[in-house]
Amino acid sequence: MVHENLVLNIGGGKKEDQILFLSPDAVEFEANSYRETKKKIKEYPVGKGIVEIIGGEPTHNSKILELIELAKDSGHIVSIETDCRNFSDMKKAQNFVDKGMERVSTELHGTKNIHNSIIGEEVFEETIKGIENLVELGVDVSVSTIFHVKNIDYFDELAEKLIYIGVSEWVLNGLSPTDFGIERYKELAVPHYEVFDTLKDISKYFDDFEVVKIVNFPECVTPFGDYNLINISYFESLDIFGSTTTEEPVKNKFCKLCNFSENCKGFMKSNIDIFGEESIEKLWKKRKLN
Ligand code: SF4
Repeated sequence: MVHENLVLNIGGGKKEDQILFLSPDAVEFEANSYRETKKKIKEYPVGKGIVEIIGGEPTHNSKILELIELAKDSGHIVSIETDCRNFSDMKKAQNFVDKGMERVSTELHGTKNIHNSIIGEEVFEETIKGIENLVELGVDVSVSTIFHVKNIDYFDELAEKLIYIGVSEWVLNGLSPTDFGIERYKELAVPHYEVFDTLKDISKYFDDFEVVKIVNFPECVTPFGDYNLINISYFESLDIFGSTTTEEPVKNKFCKLCNFSENCKGFMKSNIDIFGEESIEKLWKKRKLN
């Protein structure tokens, strides 16, 4: 059986009959009813993947607990994507766990000040408390962090915090350019060789997580080593402001020398446009010293 998660986007609708549904192959279509969404859960083969509930802040949706319970009762592992703030209330966290929520994915943009400045509110402590409560209740928590100029020097500190609070999965994500946000990409992007240095530096923490995923970077940005590490490419991701985007990768002269070439699509074009081919040369020099 092909492994595909069922992704339910319930963020688009304010009323229950406006719930959006994303098919397993991520092609969006509008479900005409909450009933249809439930039908999709019931029809989804057990063991094919997990049921992921995403969109907006799903914990605010009035139907979320019913969907979790239905998915759980249908034999699925249920995960939700949330900022975890609601779970800073242990009773609420317990309620979701009792209905069958086993996994949560969330995003931290960096350490306290960085995260709060990007969200624009003092939310960091609440999110951390939410994660701590979930971990205490036995929920697997996955945290995603996007590399950018504001947080690149603070990954060490963040790693220690995540390990301390019991996060099981860390997703290290490359910043994506967006059609309308390309100027922000120029302002926030970091060259691949700096990401390589940071990954090398924090690789000492990788074994403290059950899994570390590196997303939106080619293999050559990943330092050598035998970690619990999955490198997933590309380039489909959320940007720092929550917009989805895709970008066609490009290859250059270094790719011809590369052992990964056969299975790799190349570098993110926008990154090379900003930092030039010489940034890749720097990356390669660093890899030789690795
Ligand atoms: S093929 Fe190119 S982009 Fe891919 S890992 Fe090798 S050097 Fe990096």
